[in-house]
Amino acid sequence: MSGGAHGDGTVVWTDRFLDYSWTPEHPMRPVRLQFTMALARGLGLLEGVESLTPAAAGDSELLRVHTHDYIEAVKHARPPLGPTPDAPPYGLGSADNPVFPHMHEAASVIVGGTLAAAQEIAAGRTRRAVSIGGGMHHAMPAAAAGFCVYNDVAVAISWLLENGFDRIAYLDVDVHHGDGVQRVFYGDPRVLTISLHQHPATLWPNTGWPEETGSGAGEGSAVNLPIMPGTRDPLWLRGFHAVVPGALAAFRPQIVISQCGVDTHREDPLADLDLSVDGQRAAFIAMRDLADRYAEGRWLAVGGGGYGLIRVVPRAWTHLLATALDRTVEPSTPTPAAWRELVGAYAPTVAVPETMSDGADTAFDPWDGPGGGRETGDDRTDRARRALDVSVLATRRASFGLLGLDPEDPRD
Ligand SMILES: [Zn+2]
Repeated sequence: MSGGAHGDGTVVWTDRFLDYSWTPEHPMRPVRLQFTMALARGLGLLEGVESLTPAAAGDSELLRVHTHDYIEAVKHARPPLGPTPDAPPYGLGSADNPVFPHMHEAASVIVGGTLAAAQEIAAGRTRRAVSIGGGMHHAMPAAAAGFCVYNDVAVAISWLLENGFDRIAYLDVDVHHGDGVQRVFYGDPRVLTISLHQHPATLWPNTGWPEETGSGAGEGSAVNLPIMPGTRDPLWLRGFHAVVPGALAAFRPQIVISQCGVDTHREDPLADLDLSVDGQRAAFIAMRDLADRYAEGRWLAVGGGGYGLIRVVPRAWTHLLATALDRTVEPSTPTPAAWRELVGAYAPTVAVPETMSDGADTAFDPWDGPGGGRETGDDRTDRARRALDVSVLATRRASFGLLGLDPEDPRD
């Protein structure tokens, strides 16, 4: 397979992504996208790269996933004059999802971006496409949830299903469960959803248990790996490689769609996993390689969560862009001085990262079956490893048989 040739990777971008802007106090802020693009440009990653400017998705596309009444409610939503109700209609106007100006338009552009990426790949004009504005995986057919208004990924998958694709793998590494996408395709055997996330007993939306494996004809089409708080890169990667490659090999997808939320980072203010940008970079490279191996290189990557606006998201998603473009950035690469100045001016009290690395070690021991694993003698390390292995086994026992795999055989 050729690497790095023109046309192999497309970056979807429009400044209109920055209109997806909640309240000034909200943790999801568009500067994270702005600083990512500034860093990627500063490193010269986007020179000569095909860039695609998306239009807003129309109602006919939104209706693939969302109800007419919900879309109308988003269009007509206005910020409340009084206090915020606890359970507002359609989830619009809650603390997580406050109404903001032109919400419908901004959310539709995000859907348009992911849809355009899918259409480029489907037409064979590119093998890989990235839209860091996308990844709104919590949006439900008739409700906003978890900072997500319209489910761009579910719309794009639905479009692909009508345009020649009937085996689509969705891989979600956001710290939160990919509940919205799973919900939409839970009964559909043509879409395999895999989500790795912080354990549902410890984090919203409290779903994503190993026992959630799909329903009806879709039984076996959902895979969930819960991961304990405090888990670091090597164990997270051990879990990823114990579940994801086997499931993809069995499912034989025509395309891999990755939700690349980076709220798994140890500095993320909303969750409790302990990953570094180095571990996140390793995950992106692994997903690209899996798409190369099992999906003829077709890889659509979107963003998602990530609330370390300065120190995490820009570096992590710059690594994502670089990975998709076959322009891998070495972790030791210094961040450009102009970028450090730009973000330093925005956040004078934050220690601006000097390099593209957190200096973390991402080497890991592959999962080696029930009862396996190497004891180090360090109590914390060994307990964390055993907990991860318990999760891996629960997930494999729930899902692997349905995929025709042996849950206990580490070669599967
Ligand atoms: Zn998240």
